[in-house]
Amino acid sequence: MREEITRLMSLQVIDRQLQELEQSLSSIAGRVEQLRGQTEQNQAELTRLTEDDKQIALNRKKTEKELAEGEARIRNKRMRLNLVRNDKELQALAHEVDSLKDNNQRLEAEALALMEGQEARTQRIEELAKAVVASKTELAAAEKEIAGQVEELRGSIAKKRLEREKISAEIPGNLLQRYDIIFSRRAGLAVANSTGGTCQGCRMRLPPQLFNEIQKHLQIHFCPNCQRILYFEP
Ligand SMILES: [Zn+2]
Repeated sequence: MREEITRLMSLQVIDRQLQELEQSLSSIAGRVEQLRGQTEQNQAELTRLTEDDKQIALNRKKTEKELAEGEARIRNKRMRLNLVRNDKELQALAHEVDSLKDNNQRLEAEALALMEGQEARTQRIEELAKAVVASKTELAAAEKEIAGQVEELRGSIAKKRLEREKISAEIPGNLLQRYDIIFSRRAGLAVANSTGGTCQGCRMRLPPQLFNEIQKHLQIHFCPNCQRILYFEP
């Protein structure tokens, strides 16, 4: 049994190292991920704003053209007003001029509304374009910087996994399974010392009979409170 406990303790050491290595890997990769997300977000906003800007410019052009056409039509009608003598026709023409004027006023308001915010939009587009270039440069530098570290960490993780496989092959399947569950549920402490008659995992005082049994190391014992695998080492 002593051997089994020793194997479990070694396994726990390896598993903790693995956990640390994996955490370093994910925190290193996390920084690059964050930079990548930032770049993508800026790029997306830039694309959207540029599209908007193009569409607004098109609308402005169209509105201005309609305005010019409206003005030409008004001039035309006014010239005819000077030539017409018939009252009924005069009234009809005057009415047409009024409605053309109304329409032009509406178009002018539209053109103004389209012009509004143009400056802010142009400025934001410039800002975003600069930000995209900057974050792409930063991202490339960060990727280059961590490439070596990532490689090294992956190598260490692969080595540790092999070590783990070797040791766990020598542990009975059901015990290993139980260990794995406790390790993941009990914050990386699955095998705990019972020194002083207390489970060092959860600090519970163990029944004296159980503590005696643990010290003999004749079989595997579990803490009645936290289920951790217990051993004794004074
Ligand atoms: Zn316990």
